[in-house]
Amino acid sequence: MKKLEALQKWVQEQHLDVVYISDHNSVGYFTNFISDPAERILGLFVFADADPFMFAPELSVGSAKKAGWTGDIYGYLDHQKPFAMIADLIKQRTSHHAVWGLEKDSLPVERFELIREQFPDASFPVNVSEFIRHMKLFKTPGEINLMEEAGEQADLAFSIGFNAIQEGRTEQEIVAEIEYGLMKQGIMQMSFDTIVQAGANAANPHGGPERHKIEPNQLILFDLGTNNKGYMSDASRTVAFGQLSDKQREIYDVCLEAQLAAQDAVKPGITAAELDKIARDIITKAGYGEYFIHRLGHGIGTTDHEFPSIMEGNDLELQPDMCFSIEPGIYIPGFAGVRIEDCVHVTENGCKAFTHTSKALNHIPVH
Ligand code: MN
Ligand code: MN
Repeated sequence: MKKLEALQKWVQEQHLDVVYISDHNSVGYFTNFISDPAERILGLFVFADADPFMFAPELSVGSAKKAGWTGDIYGYLDHQKPFAMIADLIKQRTSHHAVWGLEKDSLPVERFELIREQFPDASFPVNVSEFIRHMKLFKTPGEINLMEEAGEQADLAFSIGFNAIQEGRTEQEIVAEIEYGLMKQGIMQMSFDTIVQAGANAANPHGGPERHKIEPNQLILFDLGTNNKGYMSDASRTVAFGQLSDKQREIYDVCLEAQLAAQDAVKPGITAAELDKIARDIITKAGYGEYFIHRLGHGIGTTDHEFPSIMEGNDLELQPDMCFSIEPGIYIPGFAGVRIEDCVHVTENGCKAFTHTSKALNHIPVH
């Protein structure tokens, strides 16, 4: 609960009366109760001068206690009006003129208006999202352990996926094999929809697995990750199925050189923009700059995309315990796509990857 204490201290320092943590990921981050309430309301309310309370769907109250929440918790039933109940609970703890902090990056306007109706004299000047983003930049040893486990699960997923490649199978079937294989071992949640894309399909980096059968002599791109107790992994490998042409081989080699150079360059003090440039320059010099159409990387933790963004224009200096991806890609429309990605955490003198599947080109034979 050290994180919650830090939040409470910040609430006092900012001279706020109440902070509403409304994003279920953030609630999980501060309380260890990880639960997506979908359209229902799950919130954590933190005060300068009173103990925090959790407000949850009645059907989640038992799980929140099981997850270790020992503070006050109030449940509501589906037919009740949650924001009227929340307002009563808050008015017992702070004034009508309260100064609020809100998660402005994610609180729906509709919910904000319901709060404002209940508190017409209150003000809402502070964006808690910025504080949370900054706090999440630095992972604790416990968080890094969970992410290392998630990385081991991703490595397992790659080995299942590579073994599932067969002529006549579809991308979707390989995804199914990966997730079925993981589930049989108790790994029940991916961190995002698993991507397996072969040949020209991989040139659409945010496309999905398709239903056509995989042909030999193509590059096949895998991008996947698991959710391990609320902490994510995310990694990509591209493998050769059969024989590659010189150009297929070249884009793989260039992408790998860029990935390795960037990962090798990570150390405290280098900026996010400098790191992006190291990888981008290699790809540009090789003539493929126009096909590297996204930032080098993104932060990772309780979500699969968070801060810091590893990109041009971000002069943030990387520091120990920051966690992010390094994932250059080359996507040539109508031809092929390559992406090679590891997530790392910065150490005192370099970085350590969460995933360890070999990045040397893996040749999968055609039987
Ligand atoms: Mn990825
Ligand atoms: Mn990624």
